[in-house]
Amino acid sequence: MSVAGIHHVTAMAGAPWRNRHFHAEILGQRLVKRTVNFDDPATWHLYYGDGEGRPGSALTFFPWPHIAPGRPGDGETVETAFRAPAAALDFWRERLEAHGVAVQAEERHGRGALTFRDPDGMALAIIGVAGAQDEPAWIVPGIDASAALRGFESVTLAVPDPDITGAILRDVLGFRHSEARPGHLGLAGSDSPLTAVEIVESTHGTRPRLGAGSVHHVAFRAADDAAQEAMAETLRSRFGIEATEQRDRNYFRSIYFREPGGVLFEIATDGPGFAVDEDPAHLGETLQLPAGLEARRETIAARLPSLEPEEA
Ligand code: ZN
Repeated sequence: MSVAGIHHVTAMAGAPWRNRHFHAEILGQRLVKRTVNFDDPATWHLYYGDGEGRPGSALTFFPWPHIAPGRPGDGETVETAFRAPAAALDFWRERLEAHGVAVQAEERHGRGALTFRDPDGMALAIIGVAGAQDEPAWIVPGIDASAALRGFESVTLAVPDPDITGAILRDVLGFRHSEARPGHLGLAGSDSPLTAVEIVESTHGTRPRLGAGSVHHVAFRAADDAAQEAMAETLRSRFGIEATEQRDRNYFRSIYFREPGGVLFEIATDGPGFAVDEDPAHLGETLQLPAGLEARRETIAARLPSLEPEEA
């Protein structure tokens, strides 16, 4: 069995409550998991997604309240785009503007697109896609099924040599060449939800400095451990790149490597998914910890910043 596509995108944010307000309340994504950064348990790791947080919909954040803004450079993810029903773009433009978000409208190979930034400066887009209204959606007050976001449409990478990065996506991660904006190399996954990567040449001459609003890494799908190991083997034999050992992230199992353009890539298994440690009806409502941190729950919980707006 093979799957190809974006699994999740992980970005860096400032104040956690503001991140939650924007992504859960304004964009209407479900907070499917509230846990900590397994490598730094004093920090939240917040996962947003559709109702299940299925692969292809999960946008996750490490929020640090006092982090400096990121600075652009060569080798990073410069846009994360969601899919929405084509007829919903006017709704989204009005909703975002009503919340004080500056929105630009454009056309991308015949489809409407809105580009904007979240409160930490993360570059986001909503692409109007015909047929998206038939896909599953998470419904919140104020955003009905005719408008709700349907997971990722694409990410855009800016790297020094798009062809080399593209070859990794094609030969290792199972993507195929596809349509893209002028000046971009386009690659598409092969499974539902269909996700794409657009790659553009970057010419900063310096590496990015990651900070608030930066994407930390993009994770791509592997059906299971065997598929992930086969991908690591192709990466090793064809590109001479060694991925990390597999790490258990509770909701999926992951390996990581830096692609030749400098972007941190992860390959994550589709399973077991976010219902592995809590009732699917109550995802994201309480702090979940991996077994190794459970003994320190009280201390960890006491140190985490609030997800509610600070008192004025
Ligand atoms: Zn990840």
